[in-house]
Amino acid sequence: MEEEIYNLQLSENKSVPVHIERKNIRNYYIKISPDLNIVVPIPLKQDIETIYRFLNSTKTKKWIEKNINKFQKAKEENIKDDLTNGGTVKILDSQYIVYIYESMNDKVVLDGFNLYIYSKNAKDKSYIQKQYNEFLKTEAKPYFQKVMDKFLPIFKKYNIPQPTLKVKPLKSKWGSCRPTTAEITLNLHLYKVSDQCINYVILHELTHLVHPGHKKRFYNFLQKYMPNYQEIEKKLDVEAGQVLY
Ligand SMILES: [Zn+2]
Repeated sequence: MEEEIYNLQLSENKSVPVHIERKNIRNYYIKISPDLNIVVPIPLKQDIETIYRFLNSTKTKKWIEKNINKFQKAKEENIKDDLTNGGTVKILDSQYIVYIYESMNDKVVLDGFNLYIYSKNAKDKSYIQKQYNEFLKTEAKPYFQKVMDKFLPIFKKYNIPQPTLKVKPLKSKWGSCRPTTAEITLNLHLYKVSDQCINYVILHELTHLVHPGHKKRFYNFLQKYMPNYQEIEKKLDVEAGQVLY
């Protein structure tokens, strides 16, 4: 993989890893995701010394510090799933209000913009979280499968094996693909972002069945079937700020 991790010294006792990735783009830029992962996508033929100079400039370092602080603060007061009575959760980029009831049987129901959780252990936070994750999974998997099936005709002529889909909570990525077994794993939390972003992630992973790495061919393929994929990628970063934790 065309990736390099550069250790950037911010101050005397603070350094941060910066992921430098070669991509099919025209200009390099820098981004920080809410989990404080710093990535610098650079053009395929970019000379690396320019990048090191860019990273070590006072301006860049200031920008990094500022954003690290911003995200750390946002994390503390994050709009993440709040599975308590009156709290809110996000599903497909919409907000739902949570109601929890003690009940003989466990059940989770979406009605309008309300989420009702009936629970045998209504006071047990981790039990409620587990119940909700199970619910998300039963909703997300057929949804993801449908999106995947929609894209499959594109791949017919590339003679790829029939992909299988797995859904589970992941900490730091939206999805992964193992080309040898055609196994695609998607982050359960992907169900919280918009349909457009879900489509992008699934097409991205399917494309790996044809082009395993992130080389130029890979991006040309994405570009062909999703011309605005870069825009969606950025949107995903923003939405992720609200749902990934
Ligand atoms: Zn990828």
